[in-house]
Amino acid sequence: MSRSAHPAGPRYADVLPEGHYTAPPADLNSLDSRVWAQTVERTPDGSVTVGGLDVRRLAEEFGTPAYIMDETDFRARCRAWRDAFGQDADVFYAGKAFLSRAVVRWLYEEGLNLDVCSGGELATALAAGMPAERIALHGNNKSNEEIHRAVEVGVGRIVLDSFQEIARVAHAAERLGRRQPVQIRVTVGVEAHTHEFIATAHEDQKFGLALADGGAAEAVRRVLMLESLELTGIHSHIGSQIFDMAGFEVSARRVVGLLTQIRDEHGVELPEIDLGGGLGIAYTPEDDPREPHEIAKSLGDIVTRECEAAGLAVPRLSVEPGRAIVGPTAFTLYEVGTIKELEGLRTYVSVDGGMSDNIRTALYDAEYSVALVSRASDAEPMLSRVVGKHCESGDIVVRDAFLPADLAPGDLLAVPATGAYCRSMASNYNHALRPPVVAVRDGQARTIVRRETEEDLLRLDVG
Ligand SMILES: *Cc1c(COP(=O)(O)O)cnc(C)c1O
Repeated sequence: MSRSAHPAGPRYADVLPEGHYTAPPADLNSLDSRVWAQTVERTPDGSVTVGGLDVRRLAEEFGTPAYIMDETDFRARCRAWRDAFGQDADVFYAGKAFLSRAVVRWLYEEGLNLDVCSGGELATALAAGMPAERIALHGNNKSNEEIHRAVEVGVGRIVLDSFQEIARVAHAAERLGRRQPVQIRVTVGVEAHTHEFIATAHEDQKFGLALADGGAAEAVRRVLMLESLELTGIHSHIGSQIFDMAGFEVSARRVVGLLTQIRDEHGVELPEIDLGGGLGIAYTPEDDPREPHEIAKSLGDIVTRECEAAGLAVPRLSVEPGRAIVGPTAFTLYEVGTIKELEGLRTYVSVDGGMSDNIRTALYDAEYSVALVSRASDAEPMLSRVVGKHCESGDIVVRDAFLPADLAPGDLLAVPATGAYCRSMASNYNHALRPPVVAVRDGQARTIVRRETEEDLLRLDVG
């Protein structure tokens, strides 16, 4: 990825490799609306508010680190997806991005459905009262218990991922006297990553049944023979943090190709297709995600065009955004603990969390931005690396960022766009206590997932 050249000044000029940082922003105090949740604002006195609440007060009341989630923004994003796709499509929120009972209720109220991929996620969804028919179960190795429970409670859809699973779900449905609606997950030969999609080596992965080797067509034959399964459609999910619609275009074309093949071979037109999730968000102001209405139009146009060309009735479309709904709605609030200036290199700023609350930087080299939020500052920009408190040198939260040079222990930093795959991937490494998720709306804050305690840790340790 091309990035602009060195920041001004001789201090960094000779030692830093190109390509990992941008020049300092014109104003370190400004909060770019592309990466911050909707109600986040810098106030005239310099601190930052979300939902009308000062982050300094939130830090006092809930402690740090904490994930602060903007409920107004979450609900607005749900509505934007719902409205963009309209009555002829379904939006399934991918629960693995972040799931809690409060979030399930927001989804329910905003008219979304829910994807789960484990017994634990299913239990959370049901505990919050999501109607089973609005839940879909995914996963490449669902246990018999998970399958049994899903069929028993009557989930609206199980997405079949292997030949073994066809038999397992059919067996569970027979035993329970049910006819279970299912889709078949196919691998279409496109694996999309950020900013590109790869059309080779795509079948070499654990998910789904391949179109290319006839596995998907064979799965369709088997499912259609089983009384206890109702094949409603074909499912495809091509990757994550995707900006380019070209991968979806190939995917939709190939899924419709399979629907055509199914009609020709079996005389049935399947009523649904699901094109998965994976839509990208802005982690830094350089990212330029598509809006839900653009995505809806683009996917709708592709599917309609391909179906018309094949002489098929246009099936009901579903999509499964996770990151694109919850990612931008939260930031992680940290307190600065230590600051080490490495002369001629950069300044290491240690915060009170790290890879236990955000593994994405270590895992995928993810990029984030960061801001000082407890006050404004007119100090010079200082090239910084925000690191955690864990015993790993890869424990990096934000690899390269500019923070004001007067940064001091006790200042509060916030890392935006941490709503997805941060709390849900959080760990107890170093026996860290996983941070709470605090939902903020209209001047009210409430804990929706509480902070772990040492008692929680010791409760699992049975001696
Ligand atoms: C992970 C996943 C999603 C959601 O992906 P995002 O990148 O969060 O949008 C949707 N569908 C399936 C099947 C997934 O595995």
